[in-house]
Amino acid sequence: MIRSAILFLALLCVTQSASAEGFISRLLHHPVPGGVAVLDLGPADTTPSARYQDKPVLVIKEDGSRWIAIVGVGLTVKPGAQQLQVKDAQGSRTLAFNVTGKKYAEQRITLKNTQQVNPNAANLKRIERELAEQTRAYQVFSPGTPSNLLLDKPVNGPLSSRFGLRRFFNGEERNPHSGLDFAVPAGTPVKAPATGKVLLLGDYFFNGRTVFLDHGQGLISMFCHLSAVDVTLGQAVPRGGVVGKVGATGRATGPHMHWNVSLNDARVDPAIFIGAFQP
Ligand code: ZN
Repeated sequence: MIRSAILFLALLCVTQSASAEGFISRLLHHPVPGGVAVLDLGPADTTPSARYQDKPVLVIKEDGSRWIAIVGVGLTVKPGAQQLQVKDAQGSRTLAFNVTGKKYAEQRITLKNTQQVNPNAANLKRIERELAEQTRAYQVFSPGTPSNLLLDKPVNGPLSSRFGLRRFFNGEERNPHSGLDFAVPAGTPVKAPATGKVLLLGDYFFNGRTVFLDHGQGLISMFCHLSAVDVTLGQAVPRGGVVGKVGATGRATGPHMHWNVSLNDARVDPAIFIGAFQP
């Protein structure tokens, strides 16, 4: 009797929670600003589609049975109730989920090149153009399913600057840290964390030499400050394939690997995907 009551309560909890239960879900579900929400869409014969903040969202089948949505939550999202729009054979519905707060630390950096803190008009124009180009790349939603969601580290080395740090350059606050840094020497090969297609190549004011890799369905990696690029636009890169070499181009105080991960055009903490998330 008691056992069946407990079972009933457990089932009740499952049906009331939108978050999913499988291995990938447990690993990736960190619904904070700059994190990821994994939501259970239930079983269905046809693939459901989902949108968050009017952008298409990664949907995969977990454990061969249930569909899950893997939602990137931008750093600027306020904690509280959020909504996912879902469309499947039954029609359209809204799935609610909750984002909890997270406090990110501050980081103070001194730069000798003051243009990298307060750029002049010509540089501002360039920065604006480059930002638009990169934003368009992050908004690409290609149909392929990512080869793996537990991503490989692009380089083997200690983590240095964490994602989300509030940054002050020469005492002035600028955008928070959009990716994860690894402390590795210049020339270290940068490897694809999953199968990908080269989406964009650039040599940018802030990011320096940069590679965008499309893993499918809006999951996109960006590697920057590179000393060399070893791929061409549109190239298919296998998991572990070398895309470039670590450097210090653009706004960098020294050689390191900076890796961004984006989902549904939201930059999220790459540490989540390598099992190194810190709440
Ligand atoms: Zn960085």
